[in-house]
Amino acid sequence: MHHGSCLCGAIKFRITSELPAVQVCHCTQCRKAQGGAFATNILVDRNAIEFISGQDMIKRYESSPGKARAFCLHCGSPIFSERSSLPDVVRIRAGLLDEPLQTSLGSHAYTASKASWWPITDALPNYPEDYCVPGSP
Ligand SMILES: [Zn+2]
Ligand SMILES: [Zn+2]
Repeated sequence: MHHGSCLCGAIKFRITSELPAVQVCHCTQCRKAQGGAFATNILVDRNAIEFISGQDMIKRYESSPGKARAFCLHCGSPIFSERSSLPDVVRIRAGLLDEPLQTSLGSHAYTASKASWWPITDALPNYPEDYCVPGSP
């Protein structure tokens, strides 16, 4: 069982499943949405997330057709993203989760559009564009 919350604490949730490896997304949209060099995402089965509070505080922004980014209406924390083509999966933002986590970094995606000022210095798999399938690798 893992717990997470947004910055202001209005949104609280728990994840009842094991956590797969963290995917680092360097795409332009994630960089802007996070205000950083990348987003750190964990693919979770939608049914494995239980909101303890603040579900009514979740606002969705459709950043591209069929893809929405959910954030806290009060503090603006990114919570997760979701795609209509993958309705059973959400990409929860790893930074919301309380440490320690039983998982680690898995891969980098969209490295073709990564920030020029952020070096990737690890030896993890790199994908110039999207991940192939949910949960891989
Ligand atoms: Zn909040
Ligand atoms: Zn991205």
